[in-house]
Amino acid sequence: MSATEKHTFQAEIQQLLDIVIHSLYTDKEIFVRELVSNAADACEKLRFTQASGAEILQPDIPAAITLSSDEAAGTLTFTDTGIGMTRDEMVKNLGTIAHSGTKAFLKQIAADKKPDVGLIGQFGVGFYAAFMAAKRVTVESRSWAAGEVGWRWISEGTGGYEITPAEGDLPRGTKITLELKDESKDFAQAGTIERVIKRYSSFVPFPIELNGSKVNTVQALWARGKNEIKDEEYDEFYQFIGHDHEKPLLRLHFTADAPIAIQSLLFVPQHNLETMGMGRVEQEVNLYCRKVLIQAKAKGLFPEWLRFLKGVVDSEDLPLNISRETMQDTSLLQRLNKVLTSRFLKFLDETAEKDPAAYEKFYAEYQRFLKEGIVTDFTHKEALGKLVRYGSSAVEKGKLTSLAEYVKRMPAEQTEIYCLMAPNREAAESSPYHEVFRDRKFEVLFLFDAWDEFVMEHLREFDGKPLKPAEKAELDLKEPKKEGALDETAAKGLAEWIKTSLGDKIGEVRVSQRLVDSPAVVVDSDRHMTNTMRRMLKAMKKDDEAIAPAQQDLEINPAHPIIARLEVMRQKDPAFAAEVTEQVLDGARVAAGVLEDPRAMLKRMNQLLERVLA
Ligand code: ADP
Ligand code: MG
Repeated sequence: MSATEKHTFQAEIQQLLDIVIHSLYTDKEIFVRELVSNAADACEKLRFTQASGAEILQPDIPAAITLSSDEAAGTLTFTDTGIGMTRDEMVKNLGTIAHSGTKAFLKQIAADKKPDVGLIGQFGVGFYAAFMAAKRVTVESRSWAAGEVGWRWISEGTGGYEITPAEGDLPRGTKITLELKDESKDFAQAGTIERVIKRYSSFVPFPIELNGSKVNTVQALWARGKNEIKDEEYDEFYQFIGHDHEKPLLRLHFTADAPIAIQSLLFVPQHNLETMGMGRVEQEVNLYCRKVLIQAKAKGLFPEWLRFLKGVVDSEDLPLNISRETMQDTSLLQRLNKVLTSRFLKFLDETAEKDPAAYEKFYAEYQRFLKEGIVTDFTHKEALGKLVRYGSSAVEKGKLTSLAEYVKRMPAEQTEIYCLMAPNREAAESSPYHEVFRDRKFEVLFLFDAWDEFVMEHLREFDGKPLKPAEKAELDLKEPKKEGALDETAAKGLAEWIKTSLGDKIGEVRVSQRLVDSPAVVVDSDRHMTNTMRRMLKAMKKDDEAIAPAQQDLEINPAHPIIARLEVMRQKDPAFAAEVTEQVLDGARVAAGVLEDPRAMLKRMNQLLERVLA
């Protein structure tokens, strides 16, 4: 009975073990995760067996996991009071390819330039990771089933394993003892092992004790029902995973079954660290599979522009062939990304509706990220369009409006959404480009952020309505022509004369019907360029980079006294009229914020004043 049975490993298992033993892996520590996961699985199976009504051995011993380390002896043991194994189960589970994953794993390892053993657990061969750190592994186990006795399995990884009946009367469950290799002796230090457990196994749903004290104190909240979780629990959880001492600003807890099984808990921190001068933040959403960490700060789970998020994504659907290298391009990851991103954006939209104050706060902190999303990512443009907010001629100073609200306020004859870039509200309201909108009673969005015109340019339209810079609006005044205004022929004649007079200082000169108080405006000749965009490009360019000089067109207001009198003056005193014309052009440039050097203008102005006062 007590004879030792010698077994050899199946060929594939031996092959796998050779790789595990002889390679130096940076994430060697994952063997801890794998053994703890197996212990947790065993506990879960026990619960399940018990719940199904079976009579189990030692029912009073609760399911739990205990680790103990012995630095002097260089050993580490993992004990669980789970389901245990019979002799046959040991042979089958710890030595044969019971799992089809073995082959897939070997294939993956062979194909990968930098094989990633970290994912060994995903292939159903996690147990063998023990041999990364141990020169000898002893498994003692006793099954839950009545009449079963304890067995001991020993292996050094190469040359197979031995099975003998265990000495003494084993308790239910499994005890795995690792005799650590010299270079892995640090795993016998309590501090090291505690750090590793906290990293990977904090959310294992059974108590884990290390040398007598409990290590996993936080629950996997994301896997619990929303209704049974208190706010404080969420906050505490966030502070734990987000390494933050504040409460989160927003949280989203959601579950999806299709197209992929996802349980997720996402948080937005109170503050945008990037604007606080902390440099680029790194997305801290960790990827789990059934509560066990697969990848911290998983790349590609969310688009870059959502990098302020913190939290957890747990998916049971992670396939066997997933690896850190190929993760980037697996369609699964893309699908996850799409589902998660859409869901989060929808959540923001819902928050704006239900809790405007919270959304306002969020927007104040994080608007740049949303705008980055619009400019860099085509996929979510529509959803992002719902989330941006702007100042507007229709709302009070300091308040913002959404594009959806703007559209609701649009009168029937208005077909486009207009926006005007300006340094502040006063400047926007007194801008010559704003005049026609005041007259037509069309709302104009005021853009104060330097990026906003690019954002609008990328967004293109909202709810089927084109977004149009005010400068480019082709609108005429509604109010009847003022007395003293030039008639069409006179105005046209003057425009031609102005063009000849200014020469190549200006592109076209047109008669405009959109000006009320200003004699003239300049408009960029490029259909896609506005004066503000031109200014920004210039500010961004490097010294040695040449950009094509701006070509501007001039639009004149035939109803303005200066223009009307200019028409008279050009017949009487063309030289003086030419000077006034230059002044009108420079004045329009000042209003547009594109006058480069005001000195010439000042000089001319002084000459004009002299003449007036003469
Ligand atoms: P997986 O956990 O994905 O099945 P592993 O290689 O980690 O793959 O483990 C192989 C098998 O060994 C498990 O499926 C289980 O049947 C058995 N096993 C491993 N550890 C334990 C344990 N602590 N208690 C009971 N059974 C275990
Ligand atoms: Mg396992």
